[in-house]
Amino acid sequence: MPFKLIIVGSGSAVPTLQRGVTSQYLNFNERRILIDCGEGTQLQLRKYKIRFQRLQYIFISHLHGDHFLGIFGLLASMNLLGRTLKLIIFCPADLEKIIQTQFEITKVKLDFDLEFIHLEGKSKKLIFEDRLLEVYSIPMKHRIECYGFIFREKPKEQNIDAAKIEQYDISRAEIWAIKNGADLERNGKIIPNAELTLPPAKLFQYAFCTDTKYYEKIAEWVEDSDLLYHEATFTEKQLDRAKATHHSTAKQAAEIAKKGNVSKLLLGHFSARFGSTRELLDEAKPIFENVVCVEDGDEFDA
Ligand SMILES: [Zn+2]
Repeated sequence: MPFKLIIVGSGSAVPTLQRGVTSQYLNFNERRILIDCGEGTQLQLRKYKIRFQRLQYIFISHLHGDHFLGIFGLLASMNLLGRTLKLIIFCPADLEKIIQTQFEITKVKLDFDLEFIHLEGKSKKLIFEDRLLEVYSIPMKHRIECYGFIFREKPKEQNIDAAKIEQYDISRAEIWAIKNGADLERNGKIIPNAELTLPPAKLFQYAFCTDTKYYEKIAEWVEDSDLLYHEATFTEKQLDRAKATHHSTAKQAAEIAKKGNVSKLLLGHFSARFGSTRELLDEAKPIFENVVCVEDGDEFDA
């Protein structure tokens, strides 16, 4: 399954020449997705050779400036450069108001269709699905309404065991039913579906979690993810600051990864106070070994 994640911006609060603010590009089964769009994102996209006219979906976690202020410039550039492809934005409801107000005042009329889908809910919620992809929103615990996202490969129909087709002389109609979960009846006996099919392939899952204070429920929602991005704005030395601003420490992010039994953890959204990420990594590693502090431009494939 094609999966590529590019870290477009990995910092928090203010964009600098070293780190852009939060944004990630995701190609998931050829669905082209932008997650968060802090100020400066369109230049970062150019820098990493990501063609923003081809984006189909934008997911905005919350309305703090370092996660969405880049959307105005990005939409304006898309329009000026002749975009016609429809764009869908998943976001807190107020973002639609802000964007529409801005268009009204500046008398801009887009030449492409823009659809908004509002995020809501106090638990894990399916917000998008097509043939190959499912996306869930999960509420974070932040100072304002904020959501994480889980991108998951869509469950495939089951593969039937070829030897069983011969053994039970299974018809075409029966094969279709079995692939969709049905059992088989032969001479009044029921042969269970599990006996006729091969074990399902593991479904790839990427979970994006920012901004949030330590919230154990997240571990449950992101369970068994292949890849988890979790914010780590601070270390335990700034625990008071983390609590006051509803952010996480590297240790807390590692604990979520461990409890959630994920395969790999990416840390980001670092406070500008850290010149290097060494301290954050040293804090997370003893709890969760397979961890990376991301840099702008980093790529991760499945
Ligand atoms: Zn925030």
